Amino acid sequence: MPARSGKAFLEGLSAPRNIWMNGERVSDIVDHPALSGAAHSIAEVYDLQLKYSDVCLGTDPDTKDNINLAHIIPRSKGALLNRHKCLEKIAQFSVGLMGRTPDYLNLTFAGFSGDRSTWATHGNEEGAENLAAYQRQLSHADWALTHAIVSPSSDKSGLDPRHKAEHVAVHKVEDTENGILIRGSKALATLAPFADEISVYPRTPMPIGTEDFMLAFAVPISTPGLKFLCRDSMSMERNDFDHPFSGRFDEQDAFVIFDDVEVPRERVFIDGNIDVYNSVMTKTWMPNIMQQTMIRAQVKLSFAWALGRRMAKVLNDNSEATQKMLGEIWCYAEFARSAIANSETEAVAHRDNFWTPSAQPLYALRCMLPFWFPKVSEYLKLIGSHYMFSAPRAANMKDPEMKHLIDLYLGGAADVTAEDRAQVFRLSWDFVGTEMAGRNEQYERFYLGSGSRNLQNVLRVAKTAESDGLVDQFL
Ligand SMILES: Cc1cc2nc3c(=O)[nH]c(=O)nc-3n(C[C@H](O)[C@H](O)[C@H](O)COP(=O)(O)OP(=O)(O)OC[C@H]3O[C@@H](n4cnc5c(N)ncnc54)[C@H](O)[C@@H]3O)c2cc1C
Repeated sequence: MPARSGKAFLEGLSAPRNIWMNGERVSDIVDHPALSGAAHSIAEVYDLQLKYSDVCLGTDPDTKDNINLAHIIPRSKGALLNRHKCLEKIAQFSVGLMGRTPDYLNLTFAGFSGDRSTWATHGNEEGAENLAAYQRQLSHADWALTHAIVSPSSDKSGLDPRHKAEHVAVHKVEDTENGILIRGSKALATLAPFADEISVYPRTPMPIGTEDFMLAFAVPISTPGLKFLCRDSMSMERNDFDHPFSGRFDEQDAFVIFDDVEVPRERVFIDGNIDVYNSVMTKTWMPNIMQQTMIRAQVKLSFAWALGRRMAKVLNDNSEATQKMLGEIWCYAEFARSAIANSETEAVAHRDNFWTPSAQPLYALRCMLPFWFPKVSEYLKLIGSHYMFSAPRAANMKDPEMKHLIDLYLGGAADVTAEDRAQVFRLSWDFVGTEMAGRNEQYERFYLGSGSRNLQNVLRVAKTAESDGLVDQFL
């Protein structure tokens, strides 16, 4: 099947699913007031690939259909550069506010399939075959996929007795006639209410003796026993003037409960295989997926820089304090752009001619972003000051009693109208201040591992020889 349209995506949301939000079970995703905005935005992302088919689509090597480039295993540096343009187009749609548009997991599974030899070892050949078949299915059907790979923890001291963890994290209960029965939970699955399928795959290596927890699989969202507990909705009624982002881009995050879920054998990619479980995420996954995550982040930083400048311009704010903050935001955006460009210029071919960007520049960027984004939010709030709260709604602008008073008292510098000023500051508050903006800041801090843990882990992958040589010459 060729690339899916937004209409086909929305039709797919009628498949049954066990979604709980704001204290009740939700049956109608497309028309639910808290979900409708994001559902239609994801539909627009599907339509975008058709509208910009020259940038977003390529030929499926199996069926010769036109499919999104995120589904296609990159076989050259040129393919990565083309994929960059597609990922950028998708990121620009929500200025990076939707982190888990379907391209994120399409890239992940194309990468798993491209690096199939790493999965097809130590007796896991059948799992690797299942994975490759699933990736083909995913790209042909153009499903929206969600994932949950982080096990919930209730005691971070590390002294959690194993029997307690068993009740909490997803684990295999038994083999069944057609597959395996699993039970437990995972946190969190972004995009879950809007997904056609959910995947689980390894996160960090696990010790001998915990093989029941070493699973990788994917199942339809409507699989019996699968339950999603969504966080509070942060979505607002769509109004592109009043809250341009909160009405459209609340992609949701849900805690996932596997209340005895049967996974068919052909959907199991790892079943207790410690060697494979502990190695598949350590090779190509990161550089492959970081192309999507860092392009999205770069688009968001670029937007933040332009928005900050617009806020200053509206008020004719040329203060030194504001200039310094804008300068710093530009540096972040430019560092991000340079790191991505560098990683693509130095792209690497792996086994079976599977190409990824080079890892080092993207690892460095990934480490810094959880610290940069909160600073960017802080700077925009400082520039925005009280102007973010003296920004009337669209309805006020039309009110005959209020309009002329708003025009009189709430204009900007020079010839900036009250309406233009209000629009800029409402946009900025929805970017950094509203409930959804708060969620997005939390997302940037944690979606690819926590900032502090990333900084510790990067020491294991950072190249050392050249810098060690500088010290050694004096010792
Ligand atoms: C909005 C949002 C969306 C998400 N979406 C998804 C999704 O779609 N799919 C998915 O699988 N996961 C998702 N996640 C989960 C995300 O992957 C995890 O939150 C992330 O990996 C951090 O996990 P953690 O809480 O175990 O972090 P930790 O690394 O434990 O860090 C949390 C805090 O613990 C403290 N800490 C304790 N011990 C250490 C230590 N040794 N090193 C460093 N810090 C330590 C620090 O204060 C740190 O800030 C999402 C998370 C958020 C917030």
